[in-house]
Amino acid sequence: MGNTIFSKIISKEIPADIVFESENVLAFRDISPKAPTHILIIPKIEIPTVREISGSEHAVLLGELFDAANHIAKELKIAEEGFRLVINCGANGGQEVYHLHMHLLGGRKLTWPPG
Ligand code: 5GP
Repeated sequence: MGNTIFSKIISKEIPADIVFESENVLAFRDISPKAPTHILIIPKIEIPTVREISGSEHAVLLGELFDAANHIAKELKIAEEGFRLVINCGANGGQEVYHLHMHLLGGRKLTWPPG
């Protein structure tokens, strides 16, 4: 397995507050939430950044990430009022953990543009 903290969460070496798990996807609460609901949705395979995504190779997996986001948003009752999905990429994007992850943020009115 890979080298990031998220690999250790996938392998259950370190704990996380998991809200969804399927064969290919894991989702858990962010340790430092930026909104009342802040979930990280990750593929179990290691893809470091958006830059390594290929539409032909990862189309199904990307669909599963979005399906998980919709499912979790409904379960956590933030779907109706709306939410935000964010994927940071690289240094200027503010990425800290180099294992692809989608932030699901909701539970309050979010401002735009981001800082
Ligand atoms: P990034 O800045 O890479 O887009 O987001 C990484 C996110 O991972 C941050 O929001 C950070 O709070 C979260 N994070 C970092 N380490 C851990 C951890 O050990 N457990 C959990 N649940 N979240 C983490």
